[in-house]
Amino acid sequence: MTKYVYFFGGGHAEGSSVMRNLLGGKGCELAEMTNLGIPVPPGFTVTTQAWAHYNRSGHEWPEELWDQTLENLHRLESVAEAGFGDPQRPLLVSVRSGARVSMPGMMETILNLGLNDTTVEGLAARTRNERFAWDCYRRFVMMFANVVLGVRREVFDAEFDAAKSRLGVNERTGRPFPEDVKEQLRLAINAVFDSWFAKKAAEYRRIHNIPEEWGTAVTVMAMVFGNLGETSGTGVGFTRDPRTGDKRFYAEFLPNAQGEDVVAGIRTPLPIEALRERMPTIYDEVLEIAGRLERHYKDMQDIEFTVQDGTLYLLQTRSGKRSARAAVKVARDLVDEHVIDQHTALLRIRPQEVNEAIRPIFDDREKAAAIDRGRLLARGLPAAPGAAVGKAVFDADRAVEWARAGEQVILVRPETSPEDVAGMYAAKGIVTSRGGRTSHAAVVAVGMGKACVVGAAEIVVDEHRRVFEVGGRIVREGDWISVDGGSGEVLLDIVKTVEGELGDEVQELLSWADRYRTEGLGVRANADTPTDAQRAREFGAEGIGLVRTEHMFFAPERIPIVREMIMAVDQTTRRAALEKLRPFQRDDFMGIFRAMDGLPVTIRLLDPPLHEFLPNHKEYKELVETRSRLEALGINPEEQARLEALIANVEKLREANPMLGHRGCRLGITHPEIYGMQVRAIMEAACTVTEQGVHVEPEIMIPLTGTVGEMKETFEQTKRVADGVIAETGVAVRYLVGTMIEVPRAALIAAQIAEHAEFFSFGTNDLTQLTYGYSRDDVAKFLPKYLDMGLVPHDPFSVLDQEGVGEMIKIGIERGRSRRPNLKIGICGEHGGEASSVEFCHRVKMTYVSCSPYLIPGARLAAAQARIKERQAGGGDYRA
Ligand code: ADP
Ligand code: MG
Ligand code: MG
Repeated sequence: MTKYVYFFGGGHAEGSSVMRNLLGGKGCELAEMTNLGIPVPPGFTVTTQAWAHYNRSGHEWPEELWDQTLENLHRLESVAEAGFGDPQRPLLVSVRSGARVSMPGMMETILNLGLNDTTVEGLAARTRNERFAWDCYRRFVMMFANVVLGVRREVFDAEFDAAKSRLGVNERTGRPFPEDVKEQLRLAINAVFDSWFAKKAAEYRRIHNIPEEWGTAVTVMAMVFGNLGETSGTGVGFTRDPRTGDKRFYAEFLPNAQGEDVVAGIRTPLPIEALRERMPTIYDEVLEIAGRLERHYKDMQDIEFTVQDGTLYLLQTRSGKRSARAAVKVARDLVDEHVIDQHTALLRIRPQEVNEAIRPIFDDREKAAAIDRGRLLARGLPAAPGAAVGKAVFDADRAVEWARAGEQVILVRPETSPEDVAGMYAAKGIVTSRGGRTSHAAVVAVGMGKACVVGAAEIVVDEHRRVFEVGGRIVREGDWISVDGGSGEVLLDIVKTVEGELGDEVQELLSWADRYRTEGLGVRANADTPTDAQRAREFGAEGIGLVRTEHMFFAPERIPIVREMIMAVDQTTRRAALEKLRPFQRDDFMGIFRAMDGLPVTIRLLDPPLHEFLPNHKEYKELVETRSRLEALGINPEEQARLEALIANVEKLREANPMLGHRGCRLGITHPEIYGMQVRAIMEAACTVTEQGVHVEPEIMIPLTGTVGEMKETFEQTKRVADGVIAETGVAVRYLVGTMIEVPRAALIAAQIAEHAEFFSFGTNDLTQLTYGYSRDDVAKFLPKYLDMGLVPHDPFSVLDQEGVGEMIKIGIERGRSRRPNLKIGICGEHGGEASSVEFCHRVKMTYVSCSPYLIPGARLAAAQARIKERQAGGGDYRA
């Protein structure tokens, strides 16, 4: 017989932490706490296996489940010394959802179950509190009707408000729910099972990559009441500050209230000192338990507790959501405190988090100036750090819509609920007028890494009119506001931000990471300017993996010369234009070489189609118009002829499919003078700075190679020019000539390519485009649909497709190294900074990954994690 139900209570539990997948996070930790001797109301958990059966069989329970439920219900009755449905001593329970990972508020929970017309009287009599009993009943009817019977909550809000003011109690007639408490229980368990499929839960799963088949467990436990008067109350707390990671109890308390009021952000709780003042012994007890839980779980905990008539109960513990900065600090501090080791600390932080920890912050002076100018709208509670600037929107749908259209938005709400999660995700920042630091908005925002201010009470949100009002000022939808989640300030207009920097904690953590990485992947940056190169170096880049030379062509003062070069009708004119560009390029390279003194710099020769440098639509129209005007007026024949030739040339250069057209090494082959100029500029720069004592290692990279012929031709061309410069200057500079592997054919013939290439760099943007046959510029037309339908698991342009594109890479590496065993191999596509892709690059034994400067810290960590995991799995030498 399968065991579908696990009991906890009376100091002993059948489950424990290790049964997380079966009992869900909530269920397994309630069991664990029970076994630790921590006061937890008794109850039992129905497993995710039961859910799986229910799900598979079209909502049928496994045969044994009802009997097992009843059996555990009896046990619960005897431990709780109350009877389910008993008119004198009614047992009330909560029916709680809980998946193996925490999905705060995304699924349903029903409280006060077990009340009906009879038991409510019993409850009133036992507690000698009629008002309380009816309030419980009201809450239950509402929740049950909403969650189980699908009655919209607003219907109840309106009715109850009216009824409450009339009678002081609830409406009793016409309840659409069962009087039979066992039937209530059965239906509630079903409803919690079903809540796995609620829209908000599905959205949350999508955002956080949680598999659909995990399902939820259901915990049924005795109710405890924080709303029994002044010796009762409820609280939520973190064992460390989730915004900063500081070691202090960060908690809130609300006297005479039920926990759901705090968690939902409906009422703003008091600082935890309120508990210390009112119930000092309970306060000490909470603190002691919090510390015990943290040491037991070896991580910062987020706990919920309720005090019923002077007795403390823990209702939940889980590892607490935290800001990126806090994640780093907590992990580092726990190593210092000898709670965890460095491996654990490094594996515990998501690479994305160290990137977030260096996100921009507001420029202090700019912010002070804005406040001086009267731009401060409100101060609320600083709930999640970060500087966010965006247009105000007032509902989640609008946030999603606008963000999709490329707008930056700030979601402003009275409070948030789980329905708003997609909107919160789409927004840059979140502001609520109600709720405390542990409200839904705060917890979710911290987890998502969004700047968030809660409880900004001066702000009055009018969702209907799509405005908020504050101190007589009206802010409309679409108005720009700035949100400082670190200080709690909400400002009108755009406040300037400054770039973030690596704090001491991040530095230290990354230094550990680098230690484990020495036998693994290198990390380089994609950087096109000396400033970017400098920044990359500060973030720990060990070289540059990609300098895109075309970006240097786009500068305003250069574009006319570039056009001259492109449009040149003959070699002489083209050479003359190129000669004008050479000093610019040389200066750019010198700047980058200086910034990267001692480190390798990979420079890619011109790659994009010449088409991209042509006059844009408007400029072209003007050209044609001027020509026509001159013609009509019959003046300036020379100018007419010049324009005529220009227009003809533009027409000639236009391509039907430029991405597959005249670009990359194809340009270098048809116009050798272009690459010739670039190589000369690179080598002149290298020789010049070498003479000044800078150590340079230029790596000249040919883009878009697809045939051996192309490789051989461009390799020899490059060598000729480069060696020429060395001979002229008499400065010996060691340099390499290699290629991008971004055309599938190049990966397939990598062995032959390697004969003429001294290094490879996988250009996974083009390689993905060409392997899938998806145009990067048009993919938005169908990819979102594909993602929705689950036809592809990720956007392959941001997460490397390991089975397809990855296979191409493996083949390329294997064949390339078969000819040149020590071939240096890197990746320089967008994927080089994405954690799962970095892990892949480690597995296939690349030499380095290269990514944008701001992703370098994350890449350093991801590479270290890949190595640590490999070692834990018994992997040996990194090098092939
Ligand atoms: P969620 O996953 O949405 O946080 P929970 O199952 O934790 O849902 O329930 C929401 C809130 O209901 C809890 O934070 C707690 O305050 C309250 N609650 C749940 N079970 C009980 C109980 N047995 N006694 C008192 N309050 C409870
Ligand atoms: Mg909870
Ligand atoms: Mg490319």
